[in-house]
Amino acid sequence: MNQTPDLLRQLAHDPAGAEDYDPNAMSVSQARQYIQQFLTPVQQTERLSIKQALGRVLASPIASTLNVPGHNNSAMDGFAFRLAEASQPLRIVGTAFAGKPFNGTIPAGGCIKIMTGAVIPADADTVVMQEHATVTGEHVSIQKLPGKGANIRLLGEDIAIGQTVLATGHTLQPADMGLLASLGVAEIEVYRRLKVAFFTTGDELVSVGQPLQAGQIYDSNRYSLWGMLQALGAEVEDLGNIADNPQALEHTLLQAAARFDVVITSGGVSVGEADFMKQLLATHGQVLFWKINMKPGRPLAYGKLGQAHYFGLPGNPVATMVTFYQFVQTALKTLMGSHERAQPSFKVACVSPIKKAAGRTEFQRGILFNDGADWKVKTTGEQGSGILSSMSQANCFILLDEASGPLPAGSWVEVQPFTGIF
Ligand code: AMP
Ligand code: MG
Repeated sequence: MNQTPDLLRQLAHDPAGAEDYDPNAMSVSQARQYIQQFLTPVQQTERLSIKQALGRVLASPIASTLNVPGHNNSAMDGFAFRLAEASQPLRIVGTAFAGKPFNGTIPAGGCIKIMTGAVIPADADTVVMQEHATVTGEHVSIQKLPGKGANIRLLGEDIAIGQTVLATGHTLQPADMGLLASLGVAEIEVYRRLKVAFFTTGDELVSVGQPLQAGQIYDSNRYSLWGMLQALGAEVEDLGNIADNPQALEHTLLQAAARFDVVITSGGVSVGEADFMKQLLATHGQVLFWKINMKPGRPLAYGKLGQAHYFGLPGNPVATMVTFYQFVQTALKTLMGSHERAQPSFKVACVSPIKKAAGRTEFQRGILFNDGADWKVKTTGEQGSGILSSMSQANCFILLDEASGPLPAGSWVEVQPFTGIF
């Protein structure tokens, strides 16, 4: 962090300045790139049983010590036989159950009854499903001859011995827990949890449970930040609401930077408010205050405070959430060791007209819905950065790039669904 690239230093702006379109403000992608270069994942690891590992990031790859399936087995309830002998009725000489193989040999003109998952005897080559066969006493005639090798799942067709099934950096999903169990893996090595602390600033803020005096508002960012960090699987500590007072802010910041991997603040980075925080962060760390060419979420600070990464998010409740999802979340995933970056987005028709000024990226709140035939999106209405109910109602961001201006109803827009990024 000692050397700030010149271009980026030029683009790192004093927060005091015009609120309108600023050709020197930093673009969303420049800010992301800038942050990304300082992120080194946590190194420490721990061993966990697979049941405890949901959402954790693998610290070493998993290679299979087994073939899955471990034997050729039947994909159907039916009969196993040699296809060359199946033009006439076959005599049933035994039964193979899942977990209880048929251990005999199948004589010429013979077959066995076989259940799904049961081992295919070495001397059978084909399975017919029972619905395509007719049993008369001890014999079975096959109504509809399948192709040779039909209805047999082959040894190792899912996973072969030695194959890497999960790579380092993979985040454990429910399917992975089952997959690991299917390989007999009981414990895995994961990166330790990321330690993240946050506090909010603002003299006007009151904690829930306290009465509101005139002009005060409840501190909602503490709760949205708590939720977003919990959902990411971080070890989170809420340091509370700190008054706009230099000593209190300094004390809290320094304590937090010494104890946590990441410190996040909300408020105090916007025009006219940033002075305390700016001075503090200049004294104790290397932090840049940016005006990002985006809406909501124009002011943003990022840098290092000792070993800790620092993110200063704007106080407006929607801006706090949008900047978290668009900058902080990806950065935290990198720090957690995760290799999965891409957040899905795709294009759908938007049934509402969109108000948008060209020259900045906007993250409007949208509702994806199905009109009976197709998935479409509508906006949540007013897009002010204080309207937190818009985030609650929405199920996606509508991503509008710098170039786009206002759009008539029916335009195709890029959406980023919340499920998949939250
Ligand atoms: P700031 O970024 O501190 O200038 O705050 C911008 C706006 O967001 C102001 O209207 C603040 O009252 C509001 N705000 C700041 N912090 C919070 C918070 N933690 N919860 C709710 N609103 C906040
Ligand atoms: Mg404030």
